[in-house]
Amino acid sequence: MTTAEIRTAYLDFFVKNGHKVIPRARIVPDNDPTTLFTGSGMQPLMPYLLGEKHPAGTRVTDTQTVFRADDIDEIGDNRHTTFFEMLGNWSFGDYFKKEQIPWFWEFLTEIVKLDPKKLYVTCYSGDEKLEIPKDTESAEIWKKLFEAKGIEVQEADMKTEVEGYKIGMKDGQRIFYYRDKNWWSRVGEPDNMPAGEPGGPDTEVFFDTGAEHNKNYGEHCHPNCDCGRWIEVGNSVFMQYIKNDKGGFDELPNKNVDFGGGLERIASASIGGHDMFKIDLLWPIIEKLQEMSGKKYEDHVEAKRIIADHLRAAVFMAGDGVTPSNKTQGYILRRLLRRAIRQGHELGIEDGLFRVVAPMVMDMYREPFPEVAKDEKIVISVLEKEEKLFRQTLRKGLREFEKIIKKGLDGKTIFTLFDTYGFPPELSVEEAKKRSIGVPENWQKDYEAELEKQRERSRTAAAGMFKGGLAEHSKQTIKYHTATHLMYKALRLVLGDHVEQRGSNITSERLRFDFNHPQKMTDEEIKKVENIVNEQIDKDLTVTWKEMPTKEGLATGARGHFGEKYGDTVKVYIMGPEDNPYTMELCGGPHVEHTGILGEDGKHFKIIKEESSAAGIRRIKAVLG
Ligand code: ATP
Ligand code: MG
Repeated sequence: MTTAEIRTAYLDFFVKNGHKVIPRARIVPDNDPTTLFTGSGMQPLMPYLLGEKHPAGTRVTDTQTVFRADDIDEIGDNRHTTFFEMLGNWSFGDYFKKEQIPWFWEFLTEIVKLDPKKLYVTCYSGDEKLEIPKDTESAEIWKKLFEAKGIEVQEADMKTEVEGYKIGMKDGQRIFYYRDKNWWSRVGEPDNMPAGEPGGPDTEVFFDTGAEHNKNYGEHCHPNCDCGRWIEVGNSVFMQYIKNDKGGFDELPNKNVDFGGGLERIASASIGGHDMFKIDLLWPIIEKLQEMSGKKYEDHVEAKRIIADHLRAAVFMAGDGVTPSNKTQGYILRRLLRRAIRQGHELGIEDGLFRVVAPMVMDMYREPFPEVAKDEKIVISVLEKEEKLFRQTLRKGLREFEKIIKKGLDGKTIFTLFDTYGFPPELSVEEAKKRSIGVPENWQKDYEAELEKQRERSRTAAAGMFKGGLAEHSKQTIKYHTATHLMYKALRLVLGDHVEQRGSNITSERLRFDFNHPQKMTDEEIKKVENIVNEQIDKDLTVTWKEMPTKEGLATGARGHFGEKYGDTVKVYIMGPEDNPYTMELCGGPHVEHTGILGEDGKHFKIIKEESSAAGIRRIKAVLG
């Protein structure tokens, strides 16, 4: 099956089982200042897993495009990419283990037709000290499914990975119990959870590629071994418990299921699983790199994987509205792009990476995510410009290198060469040696220290951002969200109906809003927009919302996100009287209940900045001050 076929088959399968398909969240979460990127399918759905009612009902499914900055260092192996699609299905207080496990099994073995003999599962081992039971319920379900296919099922108790490496696995073992690996909560292990926090066991499915174990990873192999033999294809979290104030765990009255499975991983398993880069969403890029460099994949596996991954991620990220910069998401995009160009340069690709590869990537996603290719020409030209600039830096770097190297190299200069000009440290050392220039024995120590400082800096860039995207809805953030709606409408009134939202980002200090408009706004236009918004605040409009079938929602004339696909039902937010509203938008919320709240303490809406963010796109920053 092609990845496109697997994607469609997955969604169809869950629709057949009563689910509604919901649209993906963008890769940069709208209106969620707590996190840089959407890193899982669960993240945008957190409010609903915590009890808010989902407009689409209690069973939903999607394919979520995710980016994991944490995985950057893993790229190069056979199964990780920074950007990937996570297939998801959820039960909000609806079905539980006895439906979820057989469904996933049926999808893998009957629809994708993976060989069941190559599948192994892990379950939660329980915690005696905390009196959380072993998840034998899931294991029993798995056992029946394997046995129905004539596969012997023995269980193995690993508890920890360390144990796993020590004892290894025996013939016939199929179900492996681990502790920390198979527990989910927003804050990790059960010990760390505060009272009132939900959590529960998970069960994971691993595909056995049959590759030989590599002892560098541990004496013996087991499903959670990182040697490359195993690939985790999917993971079902069962939100089953809530921590009580005595430190114990009670069963939740409404239990949830969260499932996430890697589309690329499943596609990879279906062709043997040895190399995820052989699937149709990555291989064409690798082939193109072979052609451009005149060098074979087999001779530069790791470099080609890094370049292919980083280019794909960069194009998708840019298509989703990120522009290269020195801050937050833009900084990560810049890093990806430079690393890809640098590594390409090493292989002899001197020009045109984005010119050639970006349109290929756009084509791959045109069908499932049309909004990404909407501003294709602009996006590609932004990426090409960034490539050109960096190549100039690189050339300058080569000249600088000759100067710097004459003075000798130490860990710190090796780091500067890496950080500023993208010179890999090994390359600098090699070049120095070629010229018989001394490099201190312990250069690596100083280099690492500098690298750690830089990591600390990028961590600070992401500071306060929760990994799991604990949607923080502070009152200030909610106010800015409502102000964004008021301003969006005002922009259309002042500038014209061509204005469409192209991005939004809110912190507790300000709102930021991107939209298409061909030229700079005049001072007068800015003033008009401010006045209109402040009038709506003074009028103290009521803010209400309705849930309705998507068709009906769109027919009301409510504005949606440009090019966005919607699920079957939508939430429509209405500001002002229902028979004559100031604005209606399709939006998940939350908002304040009436607009007067924005003017509390004598505050006024003010635009503090209006600038270009990309060709044809303007960016506004505004405050309530
Ligand atoms: P791994 O241990 O392999 O890194 P994970 O535990 O980080 O996986 P989850 O957070 O459970 O994975 O994500 C759900 C699913 O997403 C995984 O079962 C896997 O199929 C897929 N997945 C996770 N990380 C990646 C990645 N970097 N590239 C491709 N697919 C991934
Ligand atoms: Mg991982």
